[in-house]
Amino acid sequence: MFDKILIANRGEIALRVIRACREMGIKSVAVHSTADSDAMHVRMADEAVCIGPPSSAQSYLSFPAVLSAAEITGAQAIHPGYGFLSENAAFVQAIEDHGLTFIGPSAEHIRMMGDKITAKETAKELGIPVVPGSEGGVPNLAAAKKAAAEMGYPVIIKATAGGGGRGMKVAENEKSLESAFTTARSEAKAAFGNDEVYMEKYLQRPRHIEIQVFGDGQGGGVHLGERDCSLQRRHQKVFEEAPGPCISPEERKRIGEICANAIGKMGYSGAGTIEFLYEDGEFYFIEMNTRLQVEHPVTEAIFGQDLVREQILVAAGNKLSFSQDDLKINGHAIEVRINAERLPNFAPCPGKITQYHAPGGLGVRMDSALYDGYKIPPYYDSLIGKLIVHGRDRPEALARLQRALGELIVDGIDTTVPLFHALLAEPDVQTGDYNIHWLEKWLDRTFG
Ligand code: ADP
Repeated sequence: MFDKILIANRGEIALRVIRACREMGIKSVAVHSTADSDAMHVRMADEAVCIGPPSSAQSYLSFPAVLSAAEITGAQAIHPGYGFLSENAAFVQAIEDHGLTFIGPSAEHIRMMGDKITAKETAKELGIPVVPGSEGGVPNLAAAKKAAAEMGYPVIIKATAGGGGRGMKVAENEKSLESAFTTARSEAKAAFGNDEVYMEKYLQRPRHIEIQVFGDGQGGGVHLGERDCSLQRRHQKVFEEAPGPCISPEERKRIGEICANAIGKMGYSGAGTIEFLYEDGEFYFIEMNTRLQVEHPVTEAIFGQDLVREQILVAAGNKLSFSQDDLKINGHAIEVRINAERLPNFAPCPGKITQYHAPGGLGVRMDSALYDGYKIPPYYDSLIGKLIVHGRDRPEALARLQRALGELIVDGIDTTVPLFHALLAEPDVQTGDYNIHWLEKWLDRTFG
């Protein structure tokens, strides 16, 4: 087992990893930019190294800065958290070239899933159902028209190198295809430096269902059920739950086994998430994330497993500590993402926290790096906390969420907390009756 792990991240996810390390008796090293000198992860880790100026490119995303910090402190392994370098195959290669261990899958698997066309082809070969769409990339407008005519409108044009919901455009008919195609390509070029796009049938009312998987890198794979992340704004999740309110035990078993087998066949190592759109009882693969997800705590809650601990164990060469038969669902969990943003436009709202009080009590978990007097820097993601509740069933989890949101105090800045109070008053949210377009429509109706 490792003696010391460096965490190449900040905020709540850095704390999450530090906590797992501490429980395992492993020393933790925080890295930080000059803008984060007073951040909680710096205070909580056993050691901290300043690795550069505020700009992420020169600090959290800099290979030499992160690798030198590992070398100076004698860390043997690097946990990337999510975002930043977590899905960067070249970074994994660099870590291995330095004789260190990356806590995550191989560079090869990251590369395979990072290119969405290859990911989809691989998924298909492994027996995972995919969204009907173009065969590979679509090079020009004529090819786009031909592909659209074959699959039928509406269609969605997506960036091969995409991520974070960027570079996607929907075309309702042949007339709107031209501008959608051109815009998707230029957005893809600007965001990812690669203008290759592909096309899919645009599903009109799917839910977003994702399967948590774990591989031991030695041919073994298990699944930890699904999360429903259908409440999204601009393709970004805001409210996540497990189990999915509309997934039956038989469906879970069927899709879960397909995913677990695929992971085993790939020889995949560590945590991963296979994302699907789900409509009329059918699952359609959209992508695989080769890292820990923001919303992993809802899965931890219902299975009673520590996924970060498991990532570390597997990276150190151990077999998985649980088998499929050990994994039983207990109750229902919901997570809401609390962002430093001002409604109704969700404008980023960094600033000083004048008062912070975290909710507590039975079934409540608050993952956040906030504290009284903390100044949220303007340079990074606006996620400032995740409130996770666990109950015996969905109604109890919803009631607990409402109670916990009422206890939470974050003063000095605006947050997305009022959004969740409003959502909990909606009958559709209470019954779980929504698809991936529900929230956008509700926001339009509510705020105009
Ligand atoms: P990213 O990697 O940018 O997050 P994804 O492929 O995971 O992109 O898609 C993100 C979101 O976009 C999905 O959760 C869904 O809301 C929407 N989306 C993607 N593909 C389709 C599709 N074929 N039909 C309808 N919506 C889609």
